[in-house]
Amino acid sequence: MRIDILTLFPDMCLNVLNESIIGRARAGGFVEINCRDIRDYTLDKHNRVDDAPYGGGTGMIIQAQPVWDCFVSLCEELGKRPHLIYMSPQGKVLTQQRVKELSHMDNIAVLCGHYEGIDERVIEEAVDEEISVGDYVLTGGELPALILADSISRMLPGVLANEDAFTLESHYNGLLEYPQYTRPAQWHGKKVPDVLTSGHHANILKWQHEQSLERTLLRRPDMLEKAGLSEKDIKFINKLKNK
Ligand code: SAH
Repeated sequence: MRIDILTLFPDMCLNVLNESIIGRARAGGFVEINCRDIRDYTLDKHNRVDDAPYGGGTGMIIQAQPVWDCFVSLCEELGKRPHLIYMSPQGKVLTQQRVKELSHMDNIAVLCGHYEGIDERVIEEAVDEEISVGDYVLTGGELPALILADSISRMLPGVLANEDAFTLESHYNGLLEYPQYTRPAQWHGKKVPDVLTSGHHANILKWQHEQSLERTLLRRPDMLEKAGLSEKDIKFINKLKNK
């Protein structure tokens, strides 16, 4: 899988992409993530990429030409047109389900806006999909693009230690994850739940699953409707509700 981030601030992205799990995944060839500087494609002799909005208003708008030429040069390099995602507060809010679908694509390009945004015409012309990271506004699309690249990369084979590392995690199966503990067994007078130190594997799995259900009920009851619960799960939840 190859991801190309189209941005005015490639160093901001590379600083993050060179660290930790994603840094190792890139170095190990499990995912290729590149940054393309939109400014390299401006035809303006002062290297400008933005201008004031037609119709007035504050802030600056990134012009269509450098974004388009940046995208075209990427298409030429790849020999094909990648799926282009524009990170935007007006897009569909990102979910684990969409992350999973995107992780099966071979080539994704991610367009980052900045300032007040991007000329609408190049969005119409080039963008396949708009994705938001939540109902709030940021100064630029770089942090959202990194969120997208991170969430996709960790689903790819070889990036995490094993598949359990993500299939058991919050949101993957429609539930939040159970609470986790590590040494020491007692801290600030608080003991780790006995079942976890009992060595009884079946009981541990049952406890973890019930904790998942309880957490999701308390914190994100909206998720339960779509979680595909078993009859046993539903009974357990009804018992909790009647407590
Ligand atoms: N004027 C725009 C907001 C521009 S914010 C509007 O009102 O819709 C500047 C850039 O930050 C955007 O072009 C987008 O790429 C990015 N951005 C801001 N908030 C975002 C969010 N919640 N999700 C994804 N990208 C976001």
